Amino acid sequence: MSSTPSSQPVAVIGGGPAGLFAAETMAQAGLRVQVFDRMPSLGRKLLMAGRGGLNITHSEPLERFRQRYGEAAAWLTPHLDAFPPAALRAWCEALGQETFVGSSGRVFPKAMKASPLLRAWLQRLDGLGVRVSLRHDWRGWGADGALTFANGSTFKAEATVLALGGASWPRLGADGGWTALLPEIEIAPLRPANCGFRVAWSEIFRKQHAGAPLKRIALGFGGDSLRGEAVITNEGIEGGAIYALSARLREAIARDGAALLRIDLRPDISLAELSEKLDGPRRGATLSNFLRKSANLPPVGIGLVQEALHGGAEATSLAALVKAVPLRLTAPFGLARAISTAGGIALPELDDALMLRRRPGVFVAGEMLDWEAPTGGYLLQACFATGRAAGLGAIRWLNRTTP
Ligand SMILES: Cc1cc2nc3c(=O)[nH]c(=O)nc-3n(C[C@H](O)[C@H](O)[C@H](O)COP(=O)(O)OP(=O)(O)OC[C@H]3O[C@@H](n4cnc5c(N)ncnc54)[C@H](O)[C@@H]3O)c2cc1C
Repeated sequence: MSSTPSSQPVAVIGGGPAGLFAAETMAQAGLRVQVFDRMPSLGRKLLMAGRGGLNITHSEPLERFRQRYGEAAAWLTPHLDAFPPAALRAWCEALGQETFVGSSGRVFPKAMKASPLLRAWLQRLDGLGVRVSLRHDWRGWGADGALTFANGSTFKAEATVLALGGASWPRLGADGGWTALLPEIEIAPLRPANCGFRVAWSEIFRKQHAGAPLKRIALGFGGDSLRGEAVITNEGIEGGAIYALSARLREAIARDGAALLRIDLRPDISLAELSEKLDGPRRGATLSNFLRKSANLPPVGIGLVQEALHGGAEATSLAALVKAVPLRLTAPFGLARAISTAGGIALPELDDALMLRRRPGVFVAGEMLDWEAPTGGYLLQACFATGRAAGLGAIRWLNRTTP
C-alpha cells in the first residue's frame, strides 16, 4: 500500500478494527479513502487480541447480547442491529476465515488468531483503493481546517472518521492522547475496563502463589455470583471472572474506597455438604492438610483461606469461609494494563450517525466512544458496528453536502 497522502477526500485516523471497517464501508461506496496511523503497521491491538484466540463476537441471542453494553446499550442498539454478530461472522468468512462457536458461546475464527484475517482484510482494502499513511501521528486541525500530523504533513479531508482507540496497552498505538486534541468536546474520563485489581497480599502469600491460577471458582459481589477463573498476581488478582465484574468493582472502589469480593473455592459443593467435611474435628491435622484432604483445595485455595484467617476474617465456620473467602480490592490495576477502556466521547456530543455535533463532517468510532462491555467478543463487535455506522454517516453527510 502507498504511504504518500494526496488530495483524497475522506480520511480515517486510526487503523484498528473500527477505523478499518469505516474505511471499507466508505471505499465500497466509491469514496477515495486515506487511512492514517501513527504506528509502523496497522491493527496491532487486533493482532494482540488474536493471541488469545481472537474472540470476535458472541453467539448468544441478540436481546442478551445488547444488554452486555449496560447503559450504552440504548444508543448502541441501532448500530449493533444494523451489523449484528451474524453479519460479522459472515464478513470473516468472506475473508476466508471460517468461525466457530466455542463451548462458552464465544465466537472465534478457526485459525484462532488475527493475522490471516488482518492480512486478507488489508488486501481487500488495497483492492478497493484505500491508501494508508503509516507513522502519521495526528495532532489536530490547522487554521485552514486541514488535518495536521506530527511529521509536518497535512491533509484536507472532506469528511473524517476518528477511530483512535482507548488508552489501554499504549505500546500498541492507542494511548488516549487524543483527549487533548478535542478540548471543546465533552469526554467521560478514560478508565480501566476488564482489568485486574490490587490486593494487599502478605509477603508469604505473594511469594508462594503469585502466578497461580484459580480454576473452577465462583465470584460473588453485590448479590451476584459468577463462575470462572482468575489468576493471582504479585499486586493482586486478574483474569476472566474478575474482568466480568470489573466495571462494578471499579465503581464501588471509586465510591467506597475498596470493594469486598467473595471467592467460592468449591462452587460445585453446597455449604451443607462442605460443612459435613470441614466442620467436624480436625484430629491433629494441620489446617493446610485438613483443607487439602477434606475440601480438595489446591495450595493457592488453602493460601487464600489462611490469608483471610490471618486478616481476621469472620465466618460462622471453616466451610462458610471456603464458600466465601473475602478479598479486599483496593484499586484497579492501571489503565495501561487493562484489556479495554471505559469512558470516551460523551453521547450528547454525537448525532445518530456518530458525527461530532460541534465538528460537522467528523465522525467517531470504536473504543473512543463512551461505552464499555465485558470480554466475550462484545468489544470487537461494537468496534466493527460503530466503524460501519461512522463510515455510513460520512457517506450520507457527503452526499447531502456535495452540490
Ligand atoms: C490483550 C488484549 C486482548 C483483547 N482481546 C479481545 C478479544 O478477544 N475480543 C474482543 O472483542 N476484544 C478484545 N480486545 C479489545 C479490542 O482489541 C479493542 O476493543 C479494539 O482493538 C479497539 O478497536 P479500535 O479500532 O477502537 O482501537 P484500536 O484497535 O486501539 O486502534 C486505534 C488505532 O489508532 C491509532 N492511533 C491512536 N492515536 C493516534 C494518533 N494520534 N494518530 C494516528 N493514529 C493514532 C493507533 O495506533 C491504533 O492503530 C483485546 C484487547 C487487548 C489489549
